[in-house]
Amino acid sequence: MIPPAVPAALHPLVAAFLTDHDGVRAALRRYGSPLHLVFPQVFADNVAALRAVLDVGAVRHRLCYAHKVNRSTAFARTAAHAGISIDVASAQELRSALRAGFPADRIEVTGPKGGALLRTALAAGVTVNVDNLWELTTLTELVPAGATAAVLLRVSGFAGSSPSRFGIDLADITAALDLLVRHRDRLPLLGFAFHLDTAATAERVNAVEDCLALIERAYARGLAPTVLDIGGGLRQVFTDDAADYDAYDDALRAGLLARGPAMHWGNNTFGYHVADAMVHGGPVFHKYANTEPAAAVLAELLGAPLAGHGGRALGTVLTDNLLDLWLEPGKSLVDHAGITVAQVEFVKQAGSGATLVHLDLSRDTVTAADQEVLIDPIVLTTNIASQPVGVFFAGHLCLERDLITQRRVRLPCLPSPGDPVVFANTAAYHMDLSAAQASMHPVAAKVAVLARDGRYVLCPDADYRPGDR
Ligand SMILES: *Cc1c(COP(=O)(O)O)cnc(C)c1O
Repeated sequence: MIPPAVPAALHPLVAAFLTDHDGVRAALRRYGSPLHLVFPQVFADNVAALRAVLDVGAVRHRLCYAHKVNRSTAFARTAAHAGISIDVASAQELRSALRAGFPADRIEVTGPKGGALLRTALAAGVTVNVDNLWELTTLTELVPAGATAAVLLRVSGFAGSSPSRFGIDLADITAALDLLVRHRDRLPLLGFAFHLDTAATAERVNAVEDCLALIERAYARGLAPTVLDIGGGLRQVFTDDAADYDAYDDALRAGLLARGPAMHWGNNTFGYHVADAMVHGGPVFHKYANTEPAAAVLAELLGAPLAGHGGRALGTVLTDNLLDLWLEPGKSLVDHAGITVAQVEFVKQAGSGATLVHLDLSRDTVTAADQEVLIDPIVLTTNIASQPVGVFFAGHLCLERDLITQRRVRLPCLPSPGDPVVFANTAAYHMDLSAAQASMHPVAAKVAVLARDGRYVLCPDADYRPGDR
């Protein structure tokens, strides 16, 4: 029962760091296990890759790093140092952005905002990406005469997009424009925004066409918007080779149908629906199937023809109309820029015959409960007897559900207590989104890793300063 391997794609800088097993063990001794490691230089590479695409198209643009993917101070400081902007979604993230060195005019606040956050945003003088009509009305009351607050209107309800709980429905935009016309001296409209969590360029193009039409409508009302904010949603690339993912997915489905050895633990079907001797639907881990880098998807988007503009490319329409393209990339900017390292506590056999590799971390430290990581953890073992095994990784909480993998994972050999286990590419939503302090376990420390003169220098995430390189 040895499952197919699904090796993780690694940035060369991270891969090189992991070749020094003693260095990784030393980091665990110094900062404790489990440990989150972030790689600001990889973040900077990701910024450069997206910028290069926008520069080639000569598109006026603003990249706003979506802070919510990771609490890391090092990433926020790296973004500030790179000269990009930041998208914050809470008063705490706003404070973090200010501390990281962003000036107010490079900060945008998005997401659902209560009165307190609106007041904080206004006091800080940042751009408000308005989610709904209540917010807009409240802003008209909060902004004093003589002062201004620049706003974007977040729009939703595009034909063909799944329903969203965020944004102002297209049908309600007239009411929003009415308010903005009435308060134009205090609430200048920068432009329109959307955020779609989709990999489909066609869906994004459709939303862009609707927003371009809204810009024209706003002009007709005497407003002067210049910004089209297309949000985030650019994907990550997790696997080294798409064929590995497919092979594992095939084996998993065969197991669910009892046409092959079971790869799943218990009754888990990973979002698949098993009926009529078939596996239906899509799995919760579908993001691991992506093979297209974010920069390639962005290039494709800029080159996409707009039906409403005589088939001209989106990028051309933006430049011809002197519009600014704003993006709010989150996960694509931290792709490959973080790993989580834990240690093997012991290995045991379950009654079912399954081999359980117990680690000193819990599932929520590396993934949300309803997700499943479909790249293999990397074991840095001293065990030289190479005998592939299929194992489940178990967490340290005293809860049945605290299995870190609910799927059988192929390992080149059985690990030993103390061996480091690396979870790759955990910076986006994995390391910070769901981690709790159940059973009074502390949250893992976060440390920045820097490649400098062929060596690796570690420093606590909060102490990292990009200028000091
Ligand atoms: C979460 C979020 C983002 C970032 O999304 P990614 O998919 O991580 O790129 C951008 N904009 C808004 C409004 C968001 O809520």
